[in-house]
Amino acid sequence: MSRLVFPARIPYNRAMPTSATHASLPPGPPADALILGAGPAGLLCALTAARRGRRVALADASEITARKLRASGGGRSNCTNLNAAPEHYLSANPHFVAQALRRFTPQYFLALLDQLGLSASEEDFGRIFCDQGATPLTDALEGACRKAGCRFLLNRRVEAVTPTREGFRVDTDRGPLNAPRVVLALGSPAWPALGGTDSTARLAGSLGLTHVPARPALTPFTCTGAMLDLCRQLSGVGLTATLSCLGKSFTDGLLFTHQGLSGPAALQISSHWRRGEALTIDLAPGADLGQLLRDPARGRHLARTVLAGLMPRRLADALLAALPPKLAAAANRKCAELPRAQLEALAAVVHDWRVTPSGTLGMARAEAASGGLDTALFSPRTFECRALPGFFAIGEALDVAGELGGYNLHWAWASGFCAGMAV
Ligand SMILES: Cc1cc2nc3c(=O)[nH]c(=O)nc-3n(C[C@H](O)[C@H](O)[C@H](O)COP(=O)(O)OP(=O)(O)OC[C@H]3O[C@@H](n4cnc5c(N)ncnc54)[C@H](O)[C@@H]3O)c2cc1C
Repeated sequence: MSRLVFPARIPYNRAMPTSATHASLPPGPPADALILGAGPAGLLCALTAARRGRRVALADASEITARKLRASGGGRSNCTNLNAAPEHYLSANPHFVAQALRRFTPQYFLALLDQLGLSASEEDFGRIFCDQGATPLTDALEGACRKAGCRFLLNRRVEAVTPTREGFRVDTDRGPLNAPRVVLALGSPAWPALGGTDSTARLAGSLGLTHVPARPALTPFTCTGAMLDLCRQLSGVGLTATLSCLGKSFTDGLLFTHQGLSGPAALQISSHWRRGEALTIDLAPGADLGQLLRDPARGRHLARTVLAGLMPRRLADALLAALPPKLAAAANRKCAELPRAQLEALAAVVHDWRVTPSGTLGMARAEAASGGLDTALFSPRTFECRALPGFFAIGEALDVAGELGGYNLHWAWASGFCAGMAV
């Protein structure tokens, strides 16, 4: 892993005059902006706005901030990706993310980490992990927000948002809050055990805003029947594979589990999979079993030995044991003796394995959700709602879902930053 050093330069600290506003909050100073949700998007929005001189309050249902961020990357937080660009995001409006990604780059986030006294390292595919881990990152961000004067109203569930003459009234389970500007950063229903709720969709309905139905993204597959038996037999076996479906392909880790298929490649393709569709799995991407079997230098080798050399032994044994009798017989022959059709059929077992999952683990284990507030309603620069001036939405609440690899957190930072510069 190479160590990254970036200059601590970030367009913060630019003091802007606060507007004369009407706001009412529990005893304490009023707020120019009330942020609903203290996840990563809400925190970065709050920090940015507070460093511009805005008076900021955040309301969150949980008693601790940003539970998903604290759990991110298995506790290591894959907090951004050097390749952050629109092609890594799923949205009905694929251009929507472009401006924010241009304005808030991964380098800006790394500079912010540096300001917070944290560091990061790059792993495969441009993935950046916080060296200190997810909890220190969250605590540092929350601490920076508090230092900048943000008020945290935790343990406070948002139930409704109503436009008023002076701005917005936000009804919560502990009474109403009022503010001239409101930023919705309530996330998606993904992984409810870490605070995912359908609040964004409910509030959208009551405000008359279009909401694209949420679907689980980045979630493991379940299997039934013989495929489930195979997955259980291979539980714990991992390898690099290419998984394809509906015109999308991902090459990354694949893991067999007691329930079906997981690992980064399976999570990635799950965001595109539709029930009933087959996955095409290449178990040895980068190799060409057909060519290896035809290679005269391997003519005296058994076909099964050549096949087994391309993957973990347990997987090869299980695949060979599951072959139909004719193909099993072919696998036991020397490569030079194999007719072309059998050679191709054996290659297809490795490179063109068709698996139809029975389903996924759904929202319960989805790292993100596609769908969300219709991006057409919001400015891609400020994230303000065109029809509701003073109302902003950021992060996963919007119809934007990133690929695995730090893209979702980068979206939370980028959209939070842009709204924080505008509120
Ligand atoms: C297990 C797991 C691991 C992940 N790992 C990574 C990773 O390594 N890299 C990556 O890029 N992405 C990762 N993600 C995805 C990433 O965490 C999310 O995309 C990101 O947290 C979204 O940020 P957000 O601020 O928009 O929403 P959230 O993080 O969901 O924050 C929303 C906040 O709103 C609060 N809230 C919800 N409803 C209400 C309500 N009615 N009233 C008040 N408050 C409410 C919640 O308590 C929460 O604090 C992971 C997700 C999970 C579940």
